[in-house]
Amino acid sequence: MIRDRRIPIPKYLVDLNAIKKELSFVEKKDDGIHIGGGTTLYELSKTFLHKDKRFAGFVDVYKKFGTLALRFEATVAGNLVSATQYNDYITLLLVYDAKLRLVSVNGERIVKLEDFLIDKRKVDLKPNELIYEIIFPEPPINSSSSFIKFDRRELLIAGVVTGATFLALEDNKITDVKISFDMVREKRIPGRARKTEEFLKGKEFSKEILEKAAEEVLPTEMERVTDWWTTAEYRMDMSKVVLKRNLLRAYERIKG
Ligand SMILES: Cc1cc2nc3c(=O)[nH]c(=O)nc-3n(C[C@H](O)[C@H](O)[C@H](O)COP(=O)(O)OP(=O)(O)OC[C@H]3O[C@@H](n4cnc5c(N)ncnc54)[C@H](O)[C@@H]3O)c2cc1C
Repeated sequence: MIRDRRIPIPKYLVDLNAIKKELSFVEKKDDGIHIGGGTTLYELSKTFLHKDKRFAGFVDVYKKFGTLALRFEATVAGNLVSATQYNDYITLLLVYDAKLRLVSVNGERIVKLEDFLIDKRKVDLKPNELIYEIIFPEPPINSSSSFIKFDRRELLIAGVVTGATFLALEDNKITDVKISFDMVREKRIPGRARKTEEFLKGKEFSKEILEKAAEEVLPTEMERVTDWWTTAEYRMDMSKVVLKRNLLRAYERIKG
């Protein structure tokens, strides 16, 4: 962005590597899961987040994220701050109700990821603030997630649709469901599909219910856009497919 003059040339650049060790961790605590602001995607892949079905969406994101070399360098926090229309960890962490702990010399504050995202490439982060960690509640036993990036290329950023789903069941009843898609909020940033979530909550899981949620409810709350990648109509059609596949995949993961 500096090279392309999309942001003014900064007077100073601060290298976070000096504090990388302190910022690199993934921990399970009483108040939930904590991911350090310096944790790279590769480091994340070596933790319980990539072994426990409740976090299966993390594996989905990782497998399709950029290039292998990039996964050694890129951090989850860096991905959130980049805040493009389709940053993968934003779409995923929205369905885990993630919050960020921001720290500065003046103290710290907690911000919900949803509120952190203001606009494309614009986040609620002061110049002297750092993402110390990302926090989200530990999901219940009978839950799982799924993430799908649908594009002709799939690797390297996104094109047509990315979507994530978190699902929790009690027997076959949907006790919790969270759904997110890339660039659906009015500023074309990733957002939740809350009407569809409400429709699904409390219902018995069945293919008919998925069909209804995708075909009848989702289009009433979600506007899709035409850009040089594809048309709004095609994007909407594929969003329905992604929703159904994500829900089915999360269901199958819960059921083993
Ligand atoms: C070839 C290529 C392919 C890509 N493919 C994908 C893809 O498939 N999916 C996808 O989502 N994205 C993709 N990206 C973009 C990707 O989001 C970023 O490259 C990466 O996630 C940024 O992480 P980073 O740690 O390198 O952050 P940096 O690029 O170093 O920083 C990004 C921004 O975050 C700030 N920042 C970083 N860490 C912190 C912190 N702890 N606290 C506060 N601010 C911080 C920096 O100051 C900067 O403003 C791709 C990029 C490239 C170049």
